[in-house]
Amino acid sequence: MKIPQRGTAAADLFDQLEAYRANDLQWRGGRAFAYVYHAGAEAEAVAKEAYSRYLSVNGLDFTVFPSVRRLETEVAAMCASHLSAGPEAVGSFTSGGTESIMLAVKAARGAAKAKGGVPGTPEVILPVTAHAAFHKAAHYLGMKCVSIPVERATMQVNVADVAAAINENTVMLVGSATSYGPGVVDPIAELGELAQRHALWLHVDGCIGGFMIPYFRRLGAAIPDFDFRIPGVSSISMDLHKYGFAPKGASVVMYRTAEHRRHQMFAFSGWTGYTIVNHTVQSSKSGGPLAAAWAVMRFLGDEGYLAIAEKLWEATNAICDGIEAMDGIELLVRPQMCLIAACSTSVNI
Ligand SMILES: *Cc1c(COP(=O)(O)O)cnc(C)c1O
Repeated sequence: MKIPQRGTAAADLFDQLEAYRANDLQWRGGRAFAYVYHAGAEAEAVAKEAYSRYLSVNGLDFTVFPSVRRLETEVAAMCASHLSAGPEAVGSFTSGGTESIMLAVKAARGAAKAKGGVPGTPEVILPVTAHAAFHKAAHYLGMKCVSIPVERATMQVNVADVAAAINENTVMLVGSATSYGPGVVDPIAELGELAQRHALWLHVDGCIGGFMIPYFRRLGAAIPDFDFRIPGVSSISMDLHKYGFAPKGASVVMYRTAEHRRHQMFAFSGWTGYTIVNHTVQSSKSGGPLAAAWAVMRFLGDEGYLAIAEKLWEATNAICDGIEAMDGIELLVRPQMCLIAACSTSVNI
């Protein structure tokens, strides 16, 4: 394909776009898991309007677009207070869970280096159930991941195994809240104690679970503390484009203090162009995802999210009860999140 010599009428282009997506996942019918998180037509309309108003705004430079910085600070503050952070906490808005995790891994690597560094390749110790984004971050950042098995009964990482894997090159421990698939929270309090004992960075990956589990707890679910209430937690990632119901391109990475975030930054003035001061991976970026996330969070509000959580938790438990009552298929584990993993030794799953 070449750039067409003559422009095409807008109506024709939109027809073509609709035709192109005929074979895409149909996510509005209530039968699609993951990929698209839909909180109804009203929230979608609010997101669209906010997104389009900030579509062409550039998040590159907050001295030129100070409203972007304000939106980011407000979104980060809402997220940090949702996860019981103290007044010292800071957060950054990113394009997704992968970027949030990559930045936290970079910050942990930088913090270790500032304390004198490690003799070999810096290592991240993580449960085998932790998201592949950590392996991607290690790949990008010249680090090594050490995967630790989980207990079959609980699908949680064994903290003694994590402790045994700590060595002079370890810079970061990871726990999920929750894991993707099994939907369980790792023993974050024990990991926090371990991290403190060895002066290590502990990251909690709340990309999928972080937003909803505070609501499930309020609804009575037996889920232990997993957030900044645990003193050893250094950073938490939480996606807004999953159970925050914001459109894609929306996540936050939060840190206990600004000092923790210091090594996330990149600044450079040694070229002939403009001075670069980037706190995230992207440099020029649309303000759309940020404005949409800000608008959806404030449109739904705490009550709106709690009402959604109630339906999700009820449906999760109904499906889990149903699976438990069936022969030939069983739950991998009873989830602490609206994620369900089923398995079988007798039927083709
Ligand atoms: C989705 C997910 C990620 C990665 O997020 P992206 O937004 O897809 O980059 C990381 N961790 C967990 C637990 C996730 O569910």
